[in-house]
Amino acid sequence: MSYAKVLKFGGSSLATPERIKNSIEIVKQAHDSTQQMAVVVSAFGGVTDALILIARLASLGKNEYQKHFYELKSRHVAACKELILQKKAPYVLEELEKMFHELSSVIDGIFLVGECSEKTLDLVMSFGERFSAFIISEAAIPFIQDAVFLDARNIIKTDRHFGHAQVDFEKTNKNIQKWFQENPKMPVVTGFIASSNENETTTLGRGGSDYTASIIGAALGVYIIEIWTDVDGVMTADPRKEEYAFVIPEMSYREAMEMSHFGAKIIHPPTIAPAFEKKIPLLIKNSFHPSAEGTLISFTSSNNEALICGISSIDSLALLSLQGSGMVGVCGIAKRLFGALSEKEINVILISQGSSEHSICFAILPEFVENAKKAIQKEFALEMQAHLIDDVVIENDLSVIAVVGENMRKTTGISGKLFAALGNNGINVVAIAQGSSELNISFVVKKQDEVKAINVIHEAFFLSPKKTVHVFLAGTGLIGKALLQQIERFSEKIQNEQQLNIKIVGIANSLQMAFHPQGMNLKDWESSLKENHEHMNVRHFVDRMIGCNLPNSIFADCTSSEEITLQYGDILKANISIVTPNKKANSGSYDDYKKLRNTAQKKGVKFLYGANVGAGLPIISTIHEMLRSGDKIVKIEAILSGTLSFLFNSFTEGVVFSELLSKAQANGFTEPDPRDDLNGMDVARKLLILARESGYPLEMKDITVQKILPEKCFEAHSVPEFYENLKKFDEELNKKRIDAERDGKVLRYIATFEKNIGTVSLQAVRKEHPFYNLSGTDNIVAITSEFYKENPLVIKGQGAGAEVTSGKVFADIISLGQKI
Ligand code: ADP
Ligand code: ASP
Ligand code: MG
Repeated sequence: MSYAKVLKFGGSSLATPERIKNSIEIVKQAHDSTQQMAVVVSAFGGVTDALILIARLASLGKNEYQKHFYELKSRHVAACKELILQKKAPYVLEELEKMFHELSSVIDGIFLVGECSEKTLDLVMSFGERFSAFIISEAAIPFIQDAVFLDARNIIKTDRHFGHAQVDFEKTNKNIQKWFQENPKMPVVTGFIASSNENETTTLGRGGSDYTASIIGAALGVYIIEIWTDVDGVMTADPRKEEYAFVIPEMSYREAMEMSHFGAKIIHPPTIAPAFEKKIPLLIKNSFHPSAEGTLISFTSSNNEALICGISSIDSLALLSLQGSGMVGVCGIAKRLFGALSEKEINVILISQGSSEHSICFAILPEFVENAKKAIQKEFALEMQAHLIDDVVIENDLSVIAVVGENMRKTTGISGKLFAALGNNGINVVAIAQGSSELNISFVVKKQDEVKAINVIHEAFFLSPKKTVHVFLAGTGLIGKALLQQIERFSEKIQNEQQLNIKIVGIANSLQMAFHPQGMNLKDWESSLKENHEHMNVRHFVDRMIGCNLPNSIFADCTSSEEITLQYGDILKANISIVTPNKKANSGSYDDYKKLRNTAQKKGVKFLYGANVGAGLPIISTIHEMLRSGDKIVKIEAILSGTLSFLFNSFTEGVVFSELLSKAQANGFTEPDPRDDLNGMDVARKLLILARESGYPLEMKDITVQKILPEKCFEAHSVPEFYENLKKFDEELNKKRIDAERDGKVLRYIATFEKNIGTVSLQAVRKEHPFYNLSGTDNIVAITSEFYKENPLVIKGQGAGAEVTSGKVFADIISLGQKI
């Protein structure tokens, strides 16, 4: 006789009476179209954990266990009242009462002796499934008349390895077949639990109800085993760790085995084997969303264009290494090592041995570390005494991540892509192992890097649906604000057209800072910054940014602060790219300038500062392109200050310079202290950067700055005082203008670089000069090179303004996102 189908419902599908009703409805529909079937159920969601807690509290002599016990009881009684028809309720409640009475005696016993063995814990845990299967079988009867409660302890036999018992398939299969022959009914079977030959209660390991379903399905030779859970199927990664994980429609048994072995909780690892042996497909379905197709696990492997099937991880591990000169070329070391571990029943999750044979390292669960250490020390006591083998080295707080897929076998370059993605995000790989089946590459990382590693691998291997960059913004002045507005305005478009999600995860101004690793709502960043009472401290901001450890992190520095640029080295070292209009970092010493580039290169991150010169104009990028094409830059002539450009473009007859400056300041065209524009330093910095970008190792001292105004004029204690001083020079400046005009010229503040020397000076240029006709805040750069010898290459356009500057920063952020 063959039961056509097994359906298994996990705790998540049975967490509330409402969910249970829904699950019964799924069973009913299946039952209507399938003649014979079995249903396997877990304990109601959270019940096994609650039972473990009760047992633990009781064993510690803590009275609180009673409170938890009564909560558990009332939860089940309430479920009964809601699920069971009135006429049947007294019987069901009475049976339930008997079971709770039995449980209460066991727990009181634990409390009295102050101890709970593995064996007793199995007994305690078994009640979860016994309660749920009993209640569900009774609740199902009105819809499915032949529903009947079946305690799996009567059919599934195991060894006495409590907590993780091994199934005796010979006996179990016979029992299952016999039961179903004798009972032409639809059993609601307790998942997870079984019994030993001595009829002691055992369990199959946490999450083991999936296994029960597979054991029963295989024994009966059903045509499908359905696992009903709370997600749409097996996903490319744990959806709690990877926002963009998606369902894998089909995967092979081997892929499912590897995924589950390396931590994908959705299937209990041993579940696959019985189904695989009997060629029975497993279908993972969502009880919350039954119309979703789910994942079919069979002989057909995943057909992902992405080369890999999925990523899974075990989040808590320890890595042990054994090393020493006495291991080289000596046979049998591995055998002894793993023999000693197996004797202590310690499961080894990953092994890696260098070809020098000098060391072997392996990963195990943290709870086994002490036992493993002792076992190894005992096994190699003699070698350790003779200093041929060192003592075991233990590293804690690690995670193992496995990249799984049948396609990997046929494809080269997977490891390259994998480790490049990790490296570019600063994730250190502690150990690597690849099975010879090439079905999985697994590697160990620090626990704190686990989620980040999953995210970057997911992004690297799966084309869709989206990539995310995490932006930390410093500076909420004109440029920072404009940047936030642009991101807010265009984020939907960028998400749709470029599949790029730009999340602002940190914001700071000179007073406050705020962090939201999930991404801020850009509509009210101002209030979230205000409400957040964290005072801005540059070093703390940087530490927090590094501490967030988010993949594809970008620091957008929209300040002009030197205190911040001093942190750039550390930021790049932490694999965070920088985009900025802030010139300070690039105009310090040449040594520092070089160092930043080296760090960025070494770390595989970007330092983008296109907005350093000419706001949004493509000046720096053009120089880079010229150099890439083999050109050599010979001379640069430029007007590099939007402010000064504006001033001299507007300085015509009848205009008083000090009044013009005051107007410009009122319109926001100058720095808060206009001396910063007029002293020429800003222009000198920009020239220095252009010279350096052109390949010349210039220092600031190599640039001569001729100030527009005499030094005396700048010596003022305040801006108003400076204006007073300036008035005294209005006449002198006016005279310069008239002199120039007399010769048919106009005044321009020009930066020149040639033959390793830079100058910045006020010059009068004639009509034929390319700098004669400028308007507004125009910047202009004329580059003479070996290719552009006769006529220089000229770039001209609006060279100041918050929007064009932030636009460049925004474009740089997007370009980083596209490179992921
Ligand atoms: P049930 O209660 O049905 O047994 P589990 O909680 O044991 O359900 O397993 C389902 C959970 O497994 C999902 O809610 C999800 O959070 C987690 N999970 C981990 N890895 C994956 C993955 N690769 N695909 C889908 N779910 C996963
Ligand atoms: N109830 C058990 C557990 O929580 C078994 C299962 O749900 O599969 O581990
Ligand atoms: Mg489960």
